[in-house]
Amino acid sequence: MGEPPSIKKKSESRSSINKIKSNNKWSGMSLSKTKTSKERLIALKGDMIHRLSLIDKDKRGITNPIPKSLDDQAVVNENREVVEKLSQRDKSELQSINVALQKIMTGTYGICSCCGNKIEIKRLKAVPYAANCIECEENQ
Ligand SMILES: [Zn+2]
Repeated sequence: MGEPPSIKKKSESRSSINKIKSNNKWSGMSLSKTKTSKERLIALKGDMIHRLSLIDKDKRGITNPIPKSLDDQAVVNENREVVEKLSQRDKSELQSINVALQKIMTGTYGICSCCGNKIEIKRLKAVPYAANCIECEENQ
């Protein structure tokens, strides 16, 4: 009862953390970031597929029956154009997400497909499926 056990425990856990860190070939930070990106990409993909399926339904007129008045028809046509553009953007985004997920599996995620340099972490946080670094993106 002489030695307070809490101090002993603290120093023990600290040294075991250091052991894990030094034994791990991958730095803990980059590993967890890749995992987060993967999770975010999978979530994005699910979201996108859901949105695209809603848009497809909308295009087929299942959710929006053709209105009787001409004014309403004009609105629907306008909406269709917007939906068309949206779905095109979503589809290309979905493709980028798939490419990024493949890159994670092959271990090339976060590498610019244009110049081969690492894509900035900031950029990957903003756009987890970015294929190019900021420099290449701006030069395109
Ligand atoms: Zn680049």
